[in-house]
Amino acid sequence: MKPPPFEYHAPRDLGEALRILAGVRGKVLAGGQSLIPLLNMRLMAPEHLIDINRIESLATIETTPRGVTVGALARHSEVEHSGAHPLLGQALRLVAHPVIRNRGTVVGSLVHADPAAELPAVLAVLNGSVRLARDGAAAGDAPLVRDVGAAEFFTGPLESAVRPDELAVSAFFPALPARTGTAFREVARRHGDYALAGVCAVVTLDDDLRVGSARVACVGVGPVPITVDVTSECDGRPAATVDWAAVTRAVREATEPEGDIHATAAYRLRLVGVLAGQALSEAAREAAAD
Ligand SMILES: Cc1cc2nc3c(=O)[nH]c(=O)nc-3n(C[C@H](O)[C@H](O)[C@H](O)COP(=O)(O)OP(=O)(O)OC[C@H]3O[C@@H](n4cnc5c(N)ncnc54)[C@H](O)[C@@H]3O)c2cc1C
Repeated sequence: MKPPPFEYHAPRDLGEALRILAGVRGKVLAGGQSLIPLLNMRLMAPEHLIDINRIESLATIETTPRGVTVGALARHSEVEHSGAHPLLGQALRLVAHPVIRNRGTVVGSLVHADPAAELPAVLAVLNGSVRLARDGAAAGDAPLVRDVGAAEFFTGPLESAVRPDELAVSAFFPALPARTGTAFREVARRHGDYALAGVCAVVTLDDDLRVGSARVACVGVGPVPITVDVTSECDGRPAATVDWAAVTRAVREATEPEGDIHATAAYRLRLVGVLAGQALSEAAREAAAD
């Protein structure tokens, strides 16, 4: 199928992109791996497309001791192979197939906010944030910028906090503290498909290898990534003696899976508990070896 008619814009810099966004009812085109199928299926009909692929200043991956900042044009594959963040690497290997990862962008995936997507869960479990910019013409020349934390960024299925005149310029993924392990476990019907359910875990141990903090974020079992802090369930015990299966009861209680043609709600509920147990114990093992 062909997309509905739209006017195409190809700005060369961020300021130009923001000025266009401020003046029209449009959609940003990044990797196009989600937007183009939606247009072709006529599930969306924006009057204008603002293609950001020529804005080289957005194609950045910056690592500091605080964390990694991924620009809006950094492709999944570039971030995956950059080694910039262990959990991002683990998650990106589960996203679609290499050809899609060569075009799709990390920031585009966050803005798209598919509840079954891996990267929103990574941002959520790490307490990361997204930087949004809009045209600053009314207040001077510099763009107006705001940072939105993951807890406020994902507002519903396929809905994020990005306003129509805003462009997401980057996403920030905080670095991991010492003695921290991460894992991402999911089940999909075929390799590369969106997950039926998935769980990413971050576990930090203290010097005595007791659990100092343990968090998970779940995909496919709610309208947005479901983040659960299970630190108190671990009761400060040595990681090796924690019954992770029991801990995951708290995870199951926090999720709201729905059934569809791919899996029943009951199956997803069972799955998320099993995956949470696996991801938490794998992350704890990695933390102990850190
Ligand atoms: C066959 C197939 C399988 C897939 N499997 C998976 C999977 O298993 N897991 C997964 O997570 N994803 C999967 N995807 C989606 C893929 O990861 C997309 O690349 C990603 O979701 C969107 O990134 P994009 O750069 O292509 O965004 P686009 O398709 O260009 O845009 C997506 C949406 O975000 C908006 N947008 C994009 N960038 C910005 C920005 N900087 N500022 C403001 N708005 C913006 C667009 O306007 C649009 O609404 C799959 C895609 C395909 C085609």
